[in-house]
This record gives sequence, C-alpha cells and structure tokens, in this order.
Amino acid sequence: MTAFDGDETARQWPRDSRMECGICWTVYDPAVGDDVWQIPAGTAFADLPEDWRCPTCDAPRSKFMLLGTGDGGGRG
Ligand SMILES: [Zn+2]
Repeated sequence: MTAFDGDETARQWPRDSRMECGICWTVYDPAVGDDVWQIPAGTAFADLPEDWRCPTCDAPRSKFMLLGTGDGGGRG
C-alpha cells in the first residue's frame, strides 16, 4: 500500500500495546520489559533496540504482531 512497512508500522500503535511473536507466541509486554535483553519495564515495543529479537526463538521484530490493547476483551 505504501512505501514503508515493518518497524514504521509500530509507531502508530499505542505505547502500551503488547506484541506477540508470530513464531513461538511469546508475548512482549511493555509493562514488564524483557529480562533477556535487559529492557526495563515501561519500554514500548517501538522503543526496543533495532536489533532486538524474540528472547525465545530469535525471531526479528517484524515477526511480532499486535496482541491487543489489554482492555479486558470478552468479545471476539
Ligand atoms: Zn518467538
């Protein structure tokens, strides 16, 4: 659709968005951070280092998908 994709897409998501690895379903939660990469709690997915990868399966950031806004859900 547009000339850019990948990381640029993440910038429009809410900073508290949780992201799920499309390979192993590991969830990155900004409220928790990432012990493996020594990412402090409160770090948005969009603010992760460019070379950040899934701590479980080493998938690149581009493999992660938006999991939801954490509003409780119930419908779907
Ligand atoms: Zn993974």
